[in-house]
Amino acid sequence: MQALDSFDLFSPHRAERPTPLEVLRDIFGHKQFRGQQDQVIDQLVAGGDAVVLFPTGAGKSMCFQIPAICRQGVGIVVSPLIALMRDQVEALKQAGVAAAALNSSLSPEEASIVRRQLRSGELDLLYVAPERVATPGFANMLSGVDIALFAIDEAHCVSQWGHDFRPEYRELIHLVELFPGVPRIALTATADPTTREDIIERLGLEQAKVFTTSFDRPNISYSIVERDKPREQLLDFLSGHKGESGIVYCLSRAKVEDMAEYLSGKGIRALPYHAGMSAELRSANQDAFLKEEGLCLVATVAFGMGIDKPDVRYVAHMDLPSSIEAYYQETGRGGRDGQPADAWMSYGMADVVQRRRMIDEGGAPDEVKRLEHGKLNALLGVCETAECRRKAILNHFGEAHAGNCGNCDTCRSPVESWDGTEAAIKGLAAIYRTGQRFGAAHVIDVLVGKETEKVQRFGHQNQPVFGQGRELDAKSWQSVLRQLTAMGLIVVDHANHGALTLGEAARAVFKREKSVTLRKDRPKKAVEVRRQLTKAVNLPESAQGLFDALRSERLKIAKSQGVPPYVIFHDATLRAMALARPTHPHDMLNLPGVGQGKLDRYGEAFLAVVIGYAGA
Ligand code: ZN
Repeated sequence: MQALDSFDLFSPHRAERPTPLEVLRDIFGHKQFRGQQDQVIDQLVAGGDAVVLFPTGAGKSMCFQIPAICRQGVGIVVSPLIALMRDQVEALKQAGVAAAALNSSLSPEEASIVRRQLRSGELDLLYVAPERVATPGFANMLSGVDIALFAIDEAHCVSQWGHDFRPEYRELIHLVELFPGVPRIALTATADPTTREDIIERLGLEQAKVFTTSFDRPNISYSIVERDKPREQLLDFLSGHKGESGIVYCLSRAKVEDMAEYLSGKGIRALPYHAGMSAELRSANQDAFLKEEGLCLVATVAFGMGIDKPDVRYVAHMDLPSSIEAYYQETGRGGRDGQPADAWMSYGMADVVQRRRMIDEGGAPDEVKRLEHGKLNALLGVCETAECRRKAILNHFGEAHAGNCGNCDTCRSPVESWDGTEAAIKGLAAIYRTGQRFGAAHVIDVLVGKETEKVQRFGHQNQPVFGQGRELDAKSWQSVLRQLTAMGLIVVDHANHGALTLGEAARAVFKREKSVTLRKDRPKKAVEVRRQLTKAVNLPESAQGLFDALRSERLKIAKSQGVPPYVIFHDATLRAMALARPTHPHDMLNLPGVGQGKLDRYGEAFLAVVIGYAGA
C-alpha cells in the first residue's frame, strides 16, 4: 500500500466504497461529470455491461477507472500498447490510485511484486496486454481475486474492419465464460459504423448498454490546402505553433526522414518515427515527444495509436490519408485536452494517383479494393467540398451536422464556386482526343497549347482541342482535373502509369445532361487562420508569464521523476492556476484537475511559484 501511495480513504479494505462523485471530486479533482460519463459509471457500478463509443477527449478512461475504484475488487483493463498502459498507470498513481500494469516491459521481480499486490487485494486497477488474457496462466492468476470489472480499451482492435486489428483481441470473448457475472465495458473512439457493430458481436456484448455521443471534436480546426511548395506551406503553418507539440504525418519512411531533417535544418526540434527504425530509436523518439514540450514528431501512420498525450496542438498531413476514418483518427490525436488544435493537410493530384495505385497494387481481393476505392472517393469529397468540412466528415459517419461550424477553412473563408461545365467538357475532350494514355501534365500542355517535345512527337498540336483551354492557366487546370477526378468523371489508370481516362459519368457531361460545379482554388493565407486559433489558446498577458513559470516548474518535477509533464498537471490546470492565482492550498482544490493526491504532492511547489511570481 505504502509503495503505491494510495490514500486510506479509498483503500480497497475500507468497508464502505466511495461514490462515483466522491472519486471524481477527491481523486481526479473535477466538480462534475462530462456528457454521459455518470450514466456509464452507474451502469457498471450496478453490475451491468457497457459499450462506450465516445470520441477522443471525451473522458472515456474515467468511465472504467471510477467504477473500478467504487466497486469491490480490482478493475482489469485490457490495453493494446505498453506506452498507453504506462501513461495511464502513471497518471493514476499521481492522483493517488493503486494502479499497476503487467506487461513484457517488467522485470521478473517487478512482475512478481504486482502479482503479490493483486492477490492481497491492494490494487484498484491492473492494466494487462491482450495476449496475456489469452493464456491459461491468466485465469489462474485471477482465481480467488475479487474482480470489480473488465475494461477493454481500444476495442476496435477486435475488428478486421478497423485500422488496428489485433488477433489477440478475439480471445477476449472468453472472459464472459471464465468470469461470469463480472461487468464488462468495451471502449473505442471509432466512428465507423461497420467496426462498431463488429465490436459488439466479436466481444459478445449484445446485451450491453450502448452509450454513444456526437463524434464532433469542436476544438479541432480543419483545413485542407492545395499543394503548392509543400515544405514552405508546412513551415508557414508551423510558424504559428512555436513551442507547441505536434505531429506531421508523411506517407513513406523516406519522406519522414527527409522532412524531419528539413525541419531540423530550419531550427524546429523535429524527430522521425517509422516502422523501419530500430525499436530503441523509435521508442526514444516517442519518449522525447511525450516528455519534452514543443517537439514536432514526423511520422508515418505507424505512430499514434494509444498515444495519450493531451496537449498535441497540431496534426499536419503532408499526404492524403487512406480514408475519412483514418483522417478522423489521425487528426483526433490533437487537442485531447479539449483546448484548440489544428488539423492541416496539403493535398494534390499526385496523392490521388498514388493512393489509387497503392490500392490496386495492394494484393487485396477485388471486393476489398472496391471498398477501399470507395473510401478514398469519400475522402476526396471532403477535400473538394465547398461546404463545411466538419459537416462532410460527420455526415460520412451518419451524423447530421448543420454545417457552418465556424472552425474549418471553408467556413472561415467561404469558397467560391463556378460553373465548370464548359471547362469539364474541354478537359474530358483533351483526355479523349489524346487517346486516354497521358497523365495530367501532358493533358494540360495540350489544353493551354504548349508545344512541348512530347506534344510534337505525338502530333497533338494538330488536335482540335490543342490550345482550346487558354482561358485558364496550368495551375487552374490542375485544380479542374483534380476535382473531376474526385467526382469520378476522370479515372486514373495505374496499369498505364497514371494515365487519365474517362469515367462512366463523363458521358452525361459530354451530352450536356449534367452540369459541373467546381470550387475556385484560392491562395491560402495560413497565417490568418493560424492567428485566430492561437488567440483562442493564449492567456491575457498578465497571466502568460505566470503560466510559463508554472510550466517550467512542471517540467522540472516531471524530469526528476522521468514522467511526461502532463501526468503532473494538464495545461488547462496550469492555465486556470495562472488566472486564479491561488494563495492557499484550499484554493488549489477548486482548480480543475487538482484532487487531494495531487495537492499533497505538488501543492506546495506550485503555490510557491504563484506566490513568488506575485511578489516579483
Ligand atoms: Zn465548418
